[in-house]
Amino acid sequence: MPKVIGLTGGIASGKSTVSELLTAHGFKVVDADVAARQAVAKGTKGLEQVKAVFGEAAIDKDGNMDRAYVGDVIFNHPEKRLELNEIVHPIVHDIMQQEKEDYLKQGFNVIMDIPLLFENELQDTVDEVWLVYTSESIQIERLMERNDLSMEDAKARVYSQISIDKKRRMADHEIDNRDTKLELKQNLEQLLVEEGYIDNDTDTEEVE
Ligand code: ATP
Repeated sequence: MPKVIGLTGGIASGKSTVSELLTAHGFKVVDADVAARQAVAKGTKGLEQVKAVFGEAAIDKDGNMDRAYVGDVIFNHPEKRLELNEIVHPIVHDIMQQEKEDYLKQGFNVIMDIPLLFENELQDTVDEVWLVYTSESIQIERLMERNDLSMEDAKARVYSQISIDKKRRMADHEIDNRDTKLELKQNLEQLLVEEGYIDNDTDTEEVE
């Protein structure tokens, strides 16, 4: 029976990096961020609903959602975030379920890449949860670098989520991403061996 694995972590903990590695091992990835973009793509009913709540300013000149504007509004007005979630979540849910079902029917193991899996209490929708772990200070460092943020802004984003140490206690398995990307790859492959997804000798040429 193919499995459904929820992949989560904190912001900038390395989920996308792990998803890419898992794709190379034949897993199919269903990405919540991609589904969230599809849910409010140009010309969709979802985007119409966003316009009704956030006004014309939420749409850019090309007819797409102005993500920076909406992101700014919800960051500063928590009640608007809830309204946005009420529009987007059901659509995202349907898109992700459909993709998941399609992959399962084809016999693939599926990775559900869901950054806010624990925040949205979605652990029961997957067979098990894998957490990409790194310390909060590394999260802040990598986020500052990737998004060109000040330390203050990076901290605000990291601290707005459930702490990664708390998530760690709720996950079934963790993939340590505190060191280099090479070590991340090795940690992931060790988990895949332990869980029976790949053979022990698959990557022998890479083990020193
Ligand atoms: P988000 O939830 O914000 O989308 P994410 O969990 O998917 O983030 P990534 O985008 O995979 O995280 O990683 C965050 C940043 O850190 C990226 O710029 C990535 O290249 C970098 N990164 C990831 N792992 C490592 C590592 N082991 N060493 C150095 N940089 C890393």
